[in-house]
Parts: sequence; structure tokens; C-alpha cells
Amino acid sequence: MSTVKTPNATSSNFTELGLISPLLARLTELKYQQPTPIQAQVIPCVLAGRDLIAGANTGSGKTAAFALPLLQQLSKASNSKSSQGNYVTGLILVPTRELAKQVADSIKSYAVHFNGSIKTVAVFGGVSANTQMLALRGGTDILVATPGRLLDLISSNAIKLDRVTTLVLDEADRMLSFGFTEELSALFALLPKKKQILLFSATFPEQVKALTQELLNDPVEIQLQSSDASTLVQRVFTVNKGQKTALLAHLIKLHQWQQTLIFVNAKKSCNHLAEKLAKRGISAEVFHGDKGQGARNRVLEAFKAGEIQVLIATDIAARGLDIEKLPVVINFDLPRSPSDYMHRIGRSGRAGEVGLALSLIDHEDYHHFKVIEKKNKLRLEREQVAGFEVAEAYNEASFNVDKPMAKPEGSGKKKRKDHEQINADIWLRKD
Ligand code: AMP
Repeated sequence: MSTVKTPNATSSNFTELGLISPLLARLTELKYQQPTPIQAQVIPCVLAGRDLIAGANTGSGKTAAFALPLLQQLSKASNSKSSQGNYVTGLILVPTRELAKQVADSIKSYAVHFNGSIKTVAVFGGVSANTQMLALRGGTDILVATPGRLLDLISSNAIKLDRVTTLVLDEADRMLSFGFTEELSALFALLPKKKQILLFSATFPEQVKALTQELLNDPVEIQLQSSDASTLVQRVFTVNKGQKTALLAHLIKLHQWQQTLIFVNAKKSCNHLAEKLAKRGISAEVFHGDKGQGARNRVLEAFKAGEIQVLIATDIAARGLDIEKLPVVINFDLPRSPSDYMHRIGRSGRAGEVGLALSLIDHEDYHHFKVIEKKNKLRLEREQVAGFEVAEAYNEASFNVDKPMAKPEGSGKKKRKDHEQINADIWLRKD
């Protein structure tokens, strides 16, 4: 496996990457001023026809990294789509329904200046297969699919994979860890031998490495330098209603963070939570709009200086506050607006420092958190903390994948151990 390092990756522009004018025009319209680091490295490799494995998280610009060169290749390919029956040329496999739609929408947006000559379709479970079959009639250039629905459509002869020239496996680590392995093997068996494979994975667990060796042909490995990667880890803990304060107190005591910034949604809630934490032996200060400016300044200065360990704040603390090396931000209440989520968590992990953003969600927060994720183009794994496990039914429902979650293997004892392990490395494990 070769490793590509692009010294001035962030300084290149889209023209230098070799993209053609219909794409460049669209990028200008979208106000993409320069390629993200992953785009600067991936686009030339894809255009050169190389297989690749790239380490990239959602939010790094990876959709455009594979979509732009794929569109360019397809726009030049003579065997393009419709006249070819129910064939697909570029296949993108993703783990969730939401991601399938999102990726397809992005590709359609990037392709507007090809004036309809490149057809993109998304197929995923949970909706009628008939509409998708109709959309696939006559073939498609780019198909974005979740594995289960794709296999169903193949068995109904709605689509054929024999002429796939490029396969993109998005979120490969997630797909493999959620037990898509059998479906992937079935799909791989239907693909032609000669094809370009692009594999995107947030992490490189053993299964991903094994896939690389088995399936990819002399792949280029692209791993963002650590300075390119986000240094903020976002985690979500599910908890039963009524147990949030207990979980919060447990986490604060367990980790002894130097400073903890906790967000709630109302001024009253600041005081209320401070009182409840005090009963559990944790001293906290509050920061909200009912305090006079002088008091606010004093509290903030004391927090920045490390004299206050726990600060409970409303969203007035969400924007612009720069607290050096703030190790952790906790959403005790979820923010009403999805953009406030980003503002809140942006208080930690600033300027390349490591940081942690935790959200504690109970049954009532579940749907709203999905909205926050969707609007911010995030998908975070729901986790639990030992001693605060939620009801099994809720736990399964909280995993937003395109198929039922596999039950954890092993005995209750082993499960417990896994949770303890999560606890042990809660501190900045990168997912
Ligand atoms: P992704 O990682 O593909 O989910 O992209 C995250 C967000 O970044 C999306 O909203 C994209 O529209 C945006 N984006 C991707 N590439 C660029 C770029 N080069 N400049 C500005 N925004 C971008």
C-alpha cells in the first residue's frame, strides 16, 4: 500500500486538482473556495483511476471528495447509463437511509451543470421499493444504496451490478461494525472483477484492514495529518428519564475534569441543576442572562482561570466564548436549534486542542437529537454508561441504522465489561 502526502494540500484550488468546468462552476456557486484537505488528496487519486482507502470523518468534505471525480469520470465515459438497460456504473454503499439520501442529494447538486446527462438514484429501506424500481428503469449512472435494499432490488431484477466501474464504500468502519458483512459479501460477489474501489473509513479496525488486503488493488492510503483532523470528539450517552443528574454527577466525579461547561435551556434550570449537584457534593456556578454583567464577568474569569470547576450556563455562553483548553462541554439539555449544538460544542477542542462534547439524551430527547444530527450532518453512536443502562427497546431504537441492531454477543457479564471499558476510555476515544 502506498501513502500519498500532498505537502500543500490545503493551498491547492479546485482547478489545480484537474476538475472540469461544469464542476468548477458549481463549486463557485456553492462558495467552496478551496478543497478541504481530504478533497485535495483524494480527487487526483480518483481521477488517476487508483483504488484508495481514506481516513475521513463526516464533516471533512468527503462526499465531494469522491463525488466530484466520479462525476467527471462518468461525464467522459461513453458507456454511460440509460441505453444500457438496468445497469449501474458508479455504486456508492452507505450504512443508513439518511446518508443515502444525503449523499445522492449532494451528488445531484454537484452535477447540475451536466444538464441532466448524469442520472443519480438513491435506494434504501423503509420506503416503497416500487418507486425506486421505477426510478431505476433504464439504468442509472450513480446509485447510492444501503446494502439490504440493494440486494432486494437485485433479486427483483430492478438493477444489475455487472457493469459497475467504481465502487465507493462510505463509512466502511460503521458498516462493518454494524454487521453488514454478509450483505457486503453477497454484493461483492455480483460486482465485476475489474473496478475501482474507494473506501472511506473514520477508523481502521481489523475488518477494514482485512477488506483492504482482500479487495483493493494496490490502494493509495490517505490519512489526514493529525492537524487536519478534528480534535473534538463528540459522544452521546443514552439515559433513562430522571437519571440525567445522577449520570452527570457520576461522570464529573469519575473524570475529575479540570473544567466542565454544562449547557441547559433556561435560566431557572441553571440554578436548579446547581442545587441538585450540590446535594451530590459537586459545587457549581451558574452563568445566565439574569446575572448582572459584573457577576457574569467575574464568574467567567474565575472559570477560565480554573478556579471554578463546573459552570452551568444557558446559550448565552454558547457563542464566541473562548476558554483555553476547555476539556469538556456537556449538553444536559439539548439546544433547541441545531446550529446552537455546533456553537455549544465548539467551546471545546478549539485551536487544535483535544476536546470532548458529551450529550446526555433520554427518551424525550431522542427525536430532537436526530434532527440536530441531520441538520449538522452528523451521525453519532449512542452509548451507555455502566450503572445507567436504558431499557433495551429504547436502546435498539436509538441506533439509527438501516437494519436491526445485532444483539450484543456474550453474557450479561461480558456486556457489563464492555460498558466498563467504555467508561475507562470515555476520555477522548476517537470513534
Ligand atoms: P461532508 O463531510 O461530505 O458531509 O461535508 C460536510 C459539509 O461541508 C457539507 O455541508 C458540504 O457542503 C461542505 N463542504 C464540502 N466541501 C467543502 C469545501 N471545499 N468548501 C466548503 N464547504 C464544503
